[in-house]
Amino acid sequence: MALIVQKYGGTSVGSVDRITAVAQRVSQTAQAGNSVVVVVSAMGKTTDGLVKLAYEISSSPSRREMDMLLSTGEQVSIALLSMALQELGQPAISLTGAQVGIVTEAEHSRARILRIETDRIERHLKQGKVVVVAGFQGISSTEELEITTLGRGGSDTSAVALAAALGASCCEIYTDVPGIFTADPRIVPDAQLISEITCDEMLELASLGAKVLHPRSVEIARNYGVPLVVRSSWSDDPGTWVVSQISQKRALSDLELVRPVDAVEFDTDQAKVALLRVPDRPGVAARLFGEIATQNLDVDLIIQSIHESNTNDIAFTVSIGVLKKAEAVTSAIAPVLRGNSPKVDEAEVIVDGQIAKVSIAGAGMIGRPGVAAQMFATLSSAGINIQMISTSEVKVSCVIDVSDCDRAIGILCAAFDVNSSPVHSPTPPLPHSPTPHSPVRGVALDLKQARIALRHVPDRPGTAARLFQQLAKQNISVDTIIQSQRCRIVDGTPRRDIAFTVVRGDAAAAKKTLEEVVSQWGCGEIVVDNAIAKVSAVGIGMEGQPGVAARLFEALAKHQINIQMIATSEIKISCVVAEEQGVTALQAIHNAFNLAGTHKIQVPA
Ligand code: ADP
Ligand code: ASP
Ligand code: MG
Repeated sequence: MALIVQKYGGTSVGSVDRITAVAQRVSQTAQAGNSVVVVVSAMGKTTDGLVKLAYEISSSPSRREMDMLLSTGEQVSIALLSMALQELGQPAISLTGAQVGIVTEAEHSRARILRIETDRIERHLKQGKVVVVAGFQGISSTEELEITTLGRGGSDTSAVALAAALGASCCEIYTDVPGIFTADPRIVPDAQLISEITCDEMLELASLGAKVLHPRSVEIARNYGVPLVVRSSWSDDPGTWVVSQISQKRALSDLELVRPVDAVEFDTDQAKVALLRVPDRPGVAARLFGEIATQNLDVDLIIQSIHESNTNDIAFTVSIGVLKKAEAVTSAIAPVLRGNSPKVDEAEVIVDGQIAKVSIAGAGMIGRPGVAAQMFATLSSAGINIQMISTSEVKVSCVIDVSDCDRAIGILCAAFDVNSSPVHSPTPPLPHSPTPHSPVRGVALDLKQARIALRHVPDRPGTAARLFQQLAKQNISVDTIIQSQRCRIVDGTPRRDIAFTVVRGDAAAAKKTLEEVVSQWGCGEIVVDNAIAKVSAVGIGMEGQPGVAARLFEALAKHQINIQMIATSEIKISCVVAEEQGVTALQAIHNAFNLAGTHKIQVPA
């Protein structure tokens, strides 16, 4: 007899008919001899409705009262589903997060799960009951026993955490689409169903805008090796398996508070090429990386910073062995890129063969802005200057001077209490790729980000640390951090620009916090742009494969889409573009990698 955790999302329990249909599926699973724990979300758009009510009363409702309010949505659906099961003759009992003992930190509206008491659930299961648990909510570990919520979309996380705690044989996420697609099928109608995806890829996709799974649920599946499948609650199709490659067993205490960093990685076979002052117009990145791809040169990190006036800087890293070739290609294309734009100064090419990349890696850094900040602070405490930063959900990489590499590894290993290893080995491909020839598994669009640019911050150790520590203190997560390559001397201090993206709702608070920091430095302005979109392509197949970035940039250029920022990690490429071009950009990239299927799915409204 297997123990199965099933989770049904809002649309899947959106009406009495839907709840009855869910009850039928649940009872069939139970009748087949399985023990079943069901996690449900609030009905339909209930949570959105509750949020709206709150904002009709207050423009800044307290986070505690929001949790009190929002947690009620799930309480309705558990009771109704339990009744529907009983109506079918299936014994069932509904339990709130508190009744189960889903114990979280006392952080309202974004609590992480500390542990789950399994006794009561196990007792009811033994009695032959289906246990229906309210998703998204928990109870604080403090004396006050506060009701907490895990963050929007958090029922997925409740379900996977329960599966981990109960040692379930699998966790099935039932939703309103037949599984995970190469893109959101509501935006890209010819997106194709993926039969298998790695946790690493799904973590990136989920945090880059694919809301089909809450990123933290994928993190738990990865950490505890929970077999996870996303399926349609409308059909019996097999759906998509999210595969974890780590089988290391972890303790169940501090469930979501596992060590944030698993390893420190380094790569000394790196060289940097920077192209300064290229015109800010569509097609420039496509042209440059197109040339580089023609030479079959594999590019590792690519970073394009925000521009001052009307020019951009693009920097990238290659392995040392091909530096000369990369420099030659870049120098040859630089005047072409400059064109005859009279306002643009001469483009400059800078190369540096004396660099190393050090990274901290681990799924536990998701939603914990303090981890990246700690890395920057650790490096700065040793007087190490950071030349380039690249962030992804599961990794932060810094390019530093190669002579600092050994010291950097030592202090980072000590700071995060882990061992170091040379550059990570690419993940082996999955056997069942739907598009075996595509290096990209899926694409995602995030329309909820803002870009913040800081002009002329001092170029010295400790700058990034200071900035991102202050943001971390406010619990503001930062993504896509980019430092300009261009350096200018102001009052005798070398200065650079830094830009990054944050969730739009955090932009004003981030600006305020940063103003306090930079006022002491005598910096230039802080510019916030809310009208941006981030488009990303993700796939483990892009590692070590030249030309992937070029193809992506080319797709955007063809549609006259200007790229404002570029940031890459081993398995993702993200571009910031104007908000109104986001959807076109997503569709263009999806097409460019031949991800479209022949089958168009019907998505429920
Ligand atoms: P639930 O209420 O079941 O949790 P969500 O609305 O949170 O459902 O997530 C399902 C939605 O995620 C789909 O309706 C789809 O529009 C969206 N989505 C975004 N990206 C993807 C993707 N790559 N594959 C499938 N669905 C996606
Ligand atoms: N009901 C919550 C929300 O809408 C949690 C969830 O559906 O996962 O965010
Ligand atoms: Mg959801």
